[in-house]
Amino acid sequence: MSIRVRLTLWFTLIIGLILVVSGMFFYSALRLWLEAEVESDLRVYSTLVNSALDKDFQDPIDYSLVRSSLPALDEIASPGMYLQLVDGDGNVVVKSDSLGTQELPTDTWPAGQGQETTTVVTTIASDDGDDVRTMILASTLNLGSETHLLQVAQSLAPLDTALARAGLALVVSILVILTLAVLSGAFLIRRALAPVRRITGTARGIEASADLSQRVGYRGPQDEIGQLATTFDHMIERLDSALKSQRNFVADASHELRGPLTVMQGNLDLLKRNLSEEDRQESTKVIETETARMSKIVKDLLVLAELDSGQAEPNETVSLKDLLVDSQERAKQLAGNRDITIGREEDLWVKGDAHRLEQVLNNLVDNAIRYTPEGGSITLSLYRQGEWACLEVSDTGIGIAPDHLPHIFDRFYRADKARSRAKGGTGLGLAIVKGIVEQHGGKVTVASQADKGSKFTIWLRL
Ligand code: ADP
Repeated sequence: MSIRVRLTLWFTLIIGLILVVSGMFFYSALRLWLEAEVESDLRVYSTLVNSALDKDFQDPIDYSLVRSSLPALDEIASPGMYLQLVDGDGNVVVKSDSLGTQELPTDTWPAGQGQETTTVVTTIASDDGDDVRTMILASTLNLGSETHLLQVAQSLAPLDTALARAGLALVVSILVILTLAVLSGAFLIRRALAPVRRITGTARGIEASADLSQRVGYRGPQDEIGQLATTFDHMIERLDSALKSQRNFVADASHELRGPLTVMQGNLDLLKRNLSEEDRQESTKVIETETARMSKIVKDLLVLAELDSGQAEPNETVSLKDLLVDSQERAKQLAGNRDITIGREEDLWVKGDAHRLEQVLNNLVDNAIRYTPEGGSITLSLYRQGEWACLEVSDTGIGIAPDHLPHIFDRFYRADKARSRAKGGTGLGLAIVKGIVEQHGGKVTVASQADKGSKFTIWLRL
């Protein structure tokens, strides 16, 4: 059963219950209120009769005198009102004309001592044979030496008719309200769930066609369902771009590996021929260089794969100052006649993986050397900036043009392919730097100007 049907059913059930309970309450209150009105009419009339008959009647009592002393029954003000007087032997001695040949039951004496009146609702058969509910107010009355029973009564037929009509009106209005509530409820629920249907439709479309370019494109208010639709679109967006970059990455990686393989294949073919010793040595050297390049690419790819697998960072305490000094030593070996200096050098420690952080620094230093012409200078610095330890590698090299800057951390991206390859770059160095630094909860920033130099800063939390 769909949520829409279930919600509509629950909604109907709850509204129905509320309407029925409040209808019953209203009906009972109306009935009690109308009956109380009748009872109060009877009490007023009974008091009138009592005071009219509050005089000395001689024994034996002349009931025609009693009858003529009774206050008149007003058929207009109190329709269906009856009066009956019963003597001590249970004989009806006086009764109002409105009773005709009928008599009220004479067993309604107020029970118990000190009980002056009693109210009874009983069903009496009318002249035309219909059962009529009647309310009888009975009280004792002393006439002469004898105690009599005074009964004033009123037919509840008009009240019952009014109640039956009110009941019918109530049932009809409950049904109408319920129908309107169900229709409007179903409409509202349908509208509210429309984005969910769209999300499901989009998800099905993506599943069937594997086309991640589809979006829900929800434009409504950002309520819970709006947020779900937007989150869904963002999720698909990310999956789409992750998948695209994965595809590009695989294509780039194959391309990068195919280059050295082709060169090696060509040189192996050459070696099969009768070559001079000089050519043979040349070919062997080329094969060696390409093998080294391939193994560097594969090594870098493995590091990236490891970073992608999101293995937890080891929590060693690492001295950044030691790393800096070691890196300077290493750089000096590779720098030719480039100047390698240390700028600011504070004694800072961070939590992390020493080996990986060393790799970060080495990649940055290698790049600085690679892209700084002979005679240039490279400066390594370590300083504290608030909660961060900053490791800085700056050079006076060729710099990076602004349009390349946003992409240099992408895998296999090179501003100048030929130069990078010629200098042994794989295009993965900065991607690895970014991956490691982010694994350590840090960030990497770069400031660079073409032909002036570049400054890479690694920010690690202290
Ligand atoms: P590569 O192996 O090509 O150096 P990287 O990922 O390390 O790959 O760097 C990406 C690109 O960023 C490089 O190809 C180069 O164009 C640019 N780059 C990186 N470091 C520097 C630098 N210090 N000076 C100038 N350009 C740089």
